[in-house]
Amino acid sequence: TPSKEGKMFIKALFDYDPNEDKAIPCKEAGLSFKKGDILQIMSQDDATWWQAKHAGDANPRAGLIPSKHFQERKQCARALGVVPMPGNPFPVRSFRLSRKDKKTNKSMYECKKSDQYDTADVPTYEEVTPYRRQTNEKYRLVVLVGPVGVGLNELKRKLLISDTQHYGVTVPHTTRAKRSQESDGVEYIFISKHLFETDVQNNKFIEYGEYKNNYYGTSIDSVRSVLAKNKVCLLDVQPHTVKHLRTLEFKPYVIFIKPPSIERLRETRKNAKIISGRDDQGAAKPFTEEDFQDMIKSAQIMENQYGHLFDKIIVNDDLTVAFNELKTTFDKLETEAHWVPVSWLH
Ligand code: 5GP
Repeated sequence: TPSKEGKMFIKALFDYDPNEDKAIPCKEAGLSFKKGDILQIMSQDDATWWQAKHAGDANPRAGLIPSKHFQERKQCARALGVVPMPGNPFPVRSFRLSRKDKKTNKSMYECKKSDQYDTADVPTYEEVTPYRRQTNEKYRLVVLVGPVGVGLNELKRKLLISDTQHYGVTVPHTTRAKRSQESDGVEYIFISKHLFETDVQNNKFIEYGEYKNNYYGTSIDSVRSVLAKNKVCLLDVQPHTVKHLRTLEFKPYVIFIKPPSIERLRETRKNAKIISGRDDQGAAKPFTEEDFQDMIKSAQIMENQYGHLFDKIIVNDDLTVAFNELKTTFDKLETEAHWVPVSWLH
């Protein structure tokens, strides 16, 4: 096999500190990294410990990092509440809690075909490659995620107004009746319940929900039609839908809008209102202390669970500052190279 040494780049999907790793043979030899860091692989000769450097680091010395296989095993073991056993080579796909070890009375795990654990859901590393959009190519889908009340819709709206030719949003589908001032295809695409249900069956929706006995949803085709107009498509969705959008076709760039500290929330949102419904259509009420706490808690959960899918985190402390950061991010996205999964380029 041709050597990939020094030519392979991976994105770390977890935090690693060798000082806290009991399995590493020599802590000083380890390389610490954070979720989202790009690492250059210098050697994969050892099945358990790879040698890597931080990408762009001029220092020629590489450090040890757990191999993908070993890290998957560690994470599976942790998820199942058992003790990982380094140096015991077996394929990771599917661990199963099987029996108690007679001496230690600890649960052991063995590898047999089992659906209990799917390594596709174990975030370890992802092979990445630099990608720069070509001028004749469609724009990438930009996904905005963040907790309720963080100001995501406000930022989205500011961006749209700043350049209506350049940015676009999807038109949702609904089964409710069209109101007199509305036109089909503008506020919504109005369809029958039957058609909506068929479309759901055929996986045509990225997400959908029910509100006052009607269905509402965003279709995959509605994203396509924005991109087909040669616009940047802005989409805000729940973070769990992101993994279904991570395809070659959309090459989504995921931005997490994060709340500042609770102190800053109290200061900056003193006279602001929180809008409960989606797309700012709910009733607006002044923020309560509980809203701030919920926002921070929900942001933490999102970051823990889906942080490995975020390409960029923007803290919305001051709206103008956050907006400018968002603008800069978009400019860079269109002019500079970004790391994307290798699978998106083939
Ligand atoms: P309305 O019928 O007043 O236009 O909208 C009522 C509600 O429908 C909104 O507040 C929002 O909660 C929901 N809604 C609108 N578009 C979508 C969508 O694309 N997906 C989902 N899940 N709900 C939507």
